Amino acid sequence: MEHILHLKCLVCGKEYATDEIAYICPEHGNEGIVDVRYDYDLLKSRISRESLAANGDYSIWRYKPLLPVASDAPVPPLAIGWTPLYRADRLAEKLGLGQVFVKDDGRLPTASFKDRASAVAVVKAQEQNAEIITTASTGNAAAALSGICASVGQKNIIFVPESAPPAKIAQLLVYNSTVMLVQGTYDDAFELCLEAASEYGWYNRNTGFNPYMTEGKKTAAFEICEQLNWRAPEVIFVSVGDGCIIGGLHKGLKDLLALGFIETMPRIIGVQAEGSSYLYEAWKNNEDILHKAPVSGITLADSISAGLPRDRIKALAAVTQTDGAYIQVSDDAILAAVPELARGIGVFAEPAGACAYAGLVQAVSDGLVSADERIVVLNTGNGLKDIRNTMKAVAMAGSSPSSIAPNMNALQDALNRS
Ligand SMILES: *Cc1c(COP(=O)(O)O)cnc(C)c1O
Ligand SMILES: [Zn+2]
Repeated sequence: MEHILHLKCLVCGKEYATDEIAYICPEHGNEGIVDVRYDYDLLKSRISRESLAANGDYSIWRYKPLLPVASDAPVPPLAIGWTPLYRADRLAEKLGLGQVFVKDDGRLPTASFKDRASAVAVVKAQEQNAEIITTASTGNAAAALSGICASVGQKNIIFVPESAPPAKIAQLLVYNSTVMLVQGTYDDAFELCLEAASEYGWYNRNTGFNPYMTEGKKTAAFEICEQLNWRAPEVIFVSVGDGCIIGGLHKGLKDLLALGFIETMPRIIGVQAEGSSYLYEAWKNNEDILHKAPVSGITLADSISAGLPRDRIKALAAVTQTDGAYIQVSDDAILAAVPELARGIGVFAEPAGACAYAGLVQAVSDGLVSADERIVVLNTGNGLKDIRNTMKAVAMAGSSPSSIAPNMNALQDALNRS
């Protein structure tokens, strides 16, 4: 893979050839997340804004030259990427803003942003003829890996906390993954999965361990900028758990700047749930994330529940290096955001997805954004993933159905009451 210069440890700065290490810096264990560094001069000869304009492949693979895979690597058949970027004028008006866009990754094949990374994991694993791929997950990364593996007939073993929402567990079972419901938290599942992968030699997709997941996730930044005709937005809002998505967005934007496809770096705003706000705390108090102790990680937005964000180095850099910010929002604010987003632009998000919008609402009251900025809010997961919390959210919003007898009088009464 001549387009990759090396893998660089973000703790010690040591550089490794791609065939020298499989995932992490051996000197820094799980903290030694590595970053994939490319030869941008070579990339410029392989891809341009013009070549993209002529490319009819509207999936993440239109950016294949910028991904850590061989140019002739077979890719899974599911349609991953190029999700819509909606202009949400009613939401903008309500918030007193100019241009607000919502990118809906709830429409990906397994209904979350995680498909972008899992697709790359499957290509990388098949490159090595891996017999089994494994991951731990709060649910969506697992569902994504499970579905994409099913699309190519790849065996996989999944570790999820037993508290994962039923819809996500149903996805794993329907795709025929081997599923371990771990009696513990996501962090417990993560540790067990790492141990198992190293013991049995399985290909390891784990977020914040496998450096190629950031690379899959960066495709969302490519799409946002291309969809805005290469005029990068001023601000991007994204919810944050382990911090892989936010790090991926930052990576994608850095690639585009280095290639000269965009001219400015957006501010990246990471939004965390109050009970799971490790990165918010670390950023606000200027704490050392290599030594900061885990937080409780309790939030109803299960996809962003992470006591110890695994990709915290990249996640913190995404905010500090872009003059962005971390914001925390309450679970009630997250629940309020679910129907607001659905009613304002027709995008039905799971709580972790709506959390990004809750962050925008908070940012407006904190004066962090202004009316002349183009703002992108990323929805990372589909609302159908978590009906239990959706029903809570609509009850809080005062919405309930009318139960009526099957006749016109009953209907007229109900209409009069509504
Ligand atoms: C995984 C996930 C996130 C957070 O991504 P991280 O990389 O863990 O920060 C946000 N929303 C949804 C729906 C997710 O599945
Ligand atoms: Zn290192």
